[in-house]
Amino acid sequence: MLHPPQSTSCPQGSSIWPHLPLHVAACEGHPASASASTPESTCPASPEPGLLPFLNEPHAAATRARTRRKVTSFTERPTKSTVIGVQMPPEPSLEAALAWLRAQPDARYAEARFVDETSERLAVRDGRPEQVTAETSRGVGIRVLGDKTWGFACTADTSEAALLAAAKRALRVARASGAVARFAVVFPERAAQHGTYTSRLAIDPFTVPLETKLAALDGPERALRTGDARLKSAEAWMSWTRQRKRLVTTEGTDVDQTFTFGTCGMHVFTLGDDGVSQRRSFPTYQGTDGFQGGYERVASVDLPGAVDQVKDEALALLTAPPCPAGTRTVLLESSQVALQIHESCGHPTELDRALGSEISLAGGSFLQPPMLGKLTYGSALVTLVADATSDGGNGTFGWDDEGVPAGRHALIERGLFVDYLSSRETAAALGRGSTGAMRAEGWNRPPIIRMVNVSLDPGDAGSLEDLVADTDDGLLIATDRSWSIDDLRLNFQFSCEIAWEIRHGRRTRILRDPLYTGITPRFWGSCDAVCGPEAWRLWGITDCGKGEPMQLMQVGHGASPARFRDVTVGSEP
Ligand SMILES: [Zn+2]
Repeated sequence: MLHPPQSTSCPQGSSIWPHLPLHVAACEGHPASASASTPESTCPASPEPGLLPFLNEPHAAATRARTRRKVTSFTERPTKSTVIGVQMPPEPSLEAALAWLRAQPDARYAEARFVDETSERLAVRDGRPEQVTAETSRGVGIRVLGDKTWGFACTADTSEAALLAAAKRALRVARASGAVARFAVVFPERAAQHGTYTSRLAIDPFTVPLETKLAALDGPERALRTGDARLKSAEAWMSWTRQRKRLVTTEGTDVDQTFTFGTCGMHVFTLGDDGVSQRRSFPTYQGTDGFQGGYERVASVDLPGAVDQVKDEALALLTAPPCPAGTRTVLLESSQVALQIHESCGHPTELDRALGSEISLAGGSFLQPPMLGKLTYGSALVTLVADATSDGGNGTFGWDDEGVPAGRHALIERGLFVDYLSSRETAAALGRGSTGAMRAEGWNRPPIIRMVNVSLDPGDAGSLEDLVADTDDGLLIATDRSWSIDDLRLNFQFSCEIAWEIRHGRRTRILRDPLYTGITPRFWGSCDAVCGPEAWRLWGITDCGKGEPMQLMQVGHGASPARFRDVTVGSEP
């Protein structure tokens, strides 16, 4: 969203942008007018006290408040405010609602999930703030398995009476759904789980002053537009999410988890004399640059250190020839391998898609249960693992949202399709155990099967430059720009920001607008080299969409650069 600069001055404003226009996402029951008049009434992700007067200057009256509450299809009341300086609502007591459900003869299993989430998004573009928002959301979701099938209800009112009412509503939904269900859900019992999980971080991003964060973006963004008139527009961003989640079930599970997710990146657009525009992004395109960790990750991403290379490549693309069409050996850099995994392995190994129970948003899967242990998905170098224990991954946790502990499960083992991302219910349909992939976006959504960290095991081809040196003739393709894939996840096309031609083991000319296309098993079957652990990197997707209503989820993909033979390539018109 664009925010026109304010015309009034702000004597106590930021030294970076004295007229910083803000979007403040008001908590429910706490409209922006309150934040403009009472400094202490701000959301948890608001800037530190030193900046609060800045938010309360007269021009803040022009500040447009945005309330972005997560909407549910179930009857509910608005989210209560969660504010610094104001007494927090008490921790909800989930036990009474569960005790009532335990006493109902037709409630075979139930879970109550309390979620309290705060997020902050910052972006600067072309010398001014593009986005400064803070959001918070808090409530409880209750899922009940009745005689035959499921019911779900949620509430933002976390009083004991409201939770009890939600429990009764969830059971009524289960009973009503059971009246038309043909089969009873099979849901094997699991031993109770107890414990806590907390993201490992050195610096809590919510303690870092807003001004510091904006300055960390402002410097690289300005530098990206400096030195050449063809550097037309640049943007740098970061976002932070803190999610606390407590799951209590009728099986006795009681687990408490606190996650800190972040993103950080930048891109620049160049414009040539012929009117052609090019984009170059770092570390990859926005939405795939996520991680689980603290503010220390901003330093390790090192936006300032990448500015010169990003500019040089964006300018070089303006005069580069388009990628010639043909059949070539293709090397994909790490973030592009990650997206390739996401679309052509992650989604098709979701067992609800394969079974047809969750296909309305994006279709099913070519990976059908009879193929388990039989289908050759890729070459022997291709081992893809669903690992919810990877350090710092967007898909890392202690337990999934039905109490299954995080684990490590091969989906593709040396090229062979061997398992799915699954839930307790879907895995039981195949006579297997859950691979622990049930997660919900928030308190007002039931869990569905989501990717964890689905990663390609590293190979033995050394570094990316080792792999280039080992390639006589080919293309190195980097950084996704757009993609298309059919609803069975078989036939795909990816277009990317940049390619380098490789001749006799060396990168030569830059090519613009490269694209490559393939059929999933044939493409992975053509993989003849995967770089080593030194080139392996864990990427994080922040907005994988699935379900109806849509749920966005953080998922991870670890990958080293890899080489594929006989790939159809060309250039995007
Ligand atoms: Zn996705």
